[in-house]
Amino acid sequence: MLSPERTPRQRMMDLLTGTRLATHQLAQMLGIPERQVEDHLEHVVKSLARDKTRRFILEPSHCQDCNFVFRDRRRLTRPSRCPLCRSEDITAPRYGIEETEQPKPR
Ligand SMILES: [Zn+2]
Repeated sequence: MLSPERTPRQRMMDLLTGTRLATHQLAQMLGIPERQVEDHLEHVVKSLARDKTRRFILEPSHCQDCNFVFRDRRRLTRPSRCPLCRSEDITAPRYGIEETEQPKPR
């Protein structure tokens, strides 16, 4: 390829492959604001939706007081408050990329 520099989005995908990271960790590793990490993540999700070799993993936030899990949450950002116990002690959602097994051509 012509570009010697990898874009922040490509570096983000590299960092996420095979692990789970929260947005603040990615922001620190990439040296960009957390808000930009969230923007990039949305594009990463879209491009992986078309990629048959890899898939995006979202590990949902949960409440540290009552263990409520925010499974239905579609947004990538951290919820502010628990709907059950009103606690604000919510873990950050974590993201990762897993490589899927490809059937070998015969
Ligand atoms: Zn709770």
